[in-house]
Amino acid sequence: MTKKYTRQLLVATHNPGKVAEYADLLEDDRIDWLSLDDAGIINYADEAGATFQENAEIKASVYARQSGLLTLADDSGLEVDALGGAPGVMTARYGGEGLTPAERYLRLLEALVDVPEAERTARFRCVIALAAADGTILGSAEGVCEGQIALEPMGEGGFGYDPVFYLPGRGVTMAQLPAGEKHRISHRGRAAYSIGPLLRRTLREME
Ligand code: IMP
Repeated sequence: MTKKYTRQLLVATHNPGKVAEYADLLEDDRIDWLSLDDAGIINYADEAGATFQENAEIKASVYARQSGLLTLADDSGLEVDALGGAPGVMTARYGGEGLTPAERYLRLLEALVDVPEAERTARFRCVIALAAADGTILGSAEGVCEGQIALEPMGEGGFGYDPVFYLPGRGVTMAQLPAGEKHRISHRGRAAYSIGPLLRRTLREME
C-alpha cells in the first residue's frame, strides 16, 4: 500500500497521553502527531490569559512560531456555579502550588461543604485553537460538558477532577466512565469534534 502524504501537527503539550488522545479523537491518516518534546521545545508559553480562549490562542501561536509547524493547543478547566465560575482558568493551580490532583479536588469538596446538591452545578470547558506555522490563528472551537460536583470522590478512571465530576444523566462520575465513552461526551471530545472540519480543510489546503 502506498503511504499517503502526511503533515506534521504539533500538539502544544508535554504530555504524550494528551497527544494520543487527540490522535484518537481526530483520527486522520494524513497527520503525523508531535508533542512539544518531539518538536524539541522545552520552554512553556505563559498561560496568562483571562479566558480559556486567550490561553489556547497564546499557546497555539507561540508554539507554532517556535516550531514552524501547524499547531493545535487547548486550554480547559472547571467552572463551578456556587463559586461564581471559579476555578476556571485557575483550575490546574486550584488550592495552591505543589498539590496532587486528589488534594486539589478535596479542597474543592471542602469549599462546597455547605452547598446542597441542587446548587452544585458545574461544567468542564475546553477551547482548542489551531495556528498556522507562522503563528496566525486559523480558528478555534469550544466544548462544554455539564455536570455537578459530587459529595465525595467516586471512580478510578480518568484524571484530574474526574472523580468528583458527577454526570446526573448517567448516575456516575467522569472517573467511572470507560475512556471511549468519556471522549464522546467530554468537553475535550466535543471541542475536538468541532475543530475537525477546520483541521481537515487546512490539511487539504497544505497538500
Ligand atoms: P489543561 O487545560 O489540560 O491544562 O487542564 C487544566 C486543568 O483542568 C487541570 O487541572 C486538569 O486536571 C483539569 N481538567 C481538564 N480536563 C479535565 C478532565 O477531562 N477531567 C478532569 N480534570 C480535567
